[in-house]
Amino acid sequence: MNEVLQFENVSMNYHTKQGETVAVEDLTFSVSEGEFVAIIGPSGCGKTTLLSLAAGLLSPTKGEVKNSGVSFGYMLQKDHLFEWRTIYQNVILGLEIQHRLNEKTEARVEKMLRDYGLWRFRNAHPSELSGGMRQRAALIRTLLLEPDILLLDEPFSAL
Ligand code: ADP
Ligand code: MG
Repeated sequence: MNEVLQFENVSMNYHTKQGETVAVEDLTFSVSEGEFVAIIGPSGCGKTTLLSLAAGLLSPTKGEVKNSGVSFGYMLQKDHLFEWRTIYQNVILGLEIQHRLNEKTEARVEKMLRDYGLWRFRNAHPSELSGGMRQRAALIRTLLLEPDILLLDEPFSAL
């Protein structure tokens, strides 16, 4: 199988003034192309840390995280919508930054907003939406970039 993500004996320790927290210890696994992986565990067990290691936002204390040059889309646990931007302006943010806004991508934006029941709210601001609606907007923002690997941190917690 074509492996796109590999964790090899990965450990991650956080250092704070209070001391050291072992968030991930000696973790080895790989993800193949087309695979769907769910990480389940209680609050504080290291799920978010694992996703941030996969995305390369954190470097492991020990071990190695490898990927086959794939692109990542990462939907964080908090939606991080910009309150001063409308829903439409929020979902297109990634496309805008990557200079990929054009007729074709704008048609996809409209389709996704319609499919996710947010088209009517495209000119509303995040504060006018429910938690679930905000989360759907954040999901659209991530999906629109069509990344090779989607990292979703508790994507349905507010639905
Ligand atoms: P989960 O997402 O499963 O709830 P996290 O990965 O957020 O768990 O956290 C795992 C452990 O690492 C927890 O004990 C948490 O307190 C600690 N931790 C997470 N982020 C930090 C940080 N930035 N600084 C210090 N400790 C952290
Ligand atoms: Mg978490």
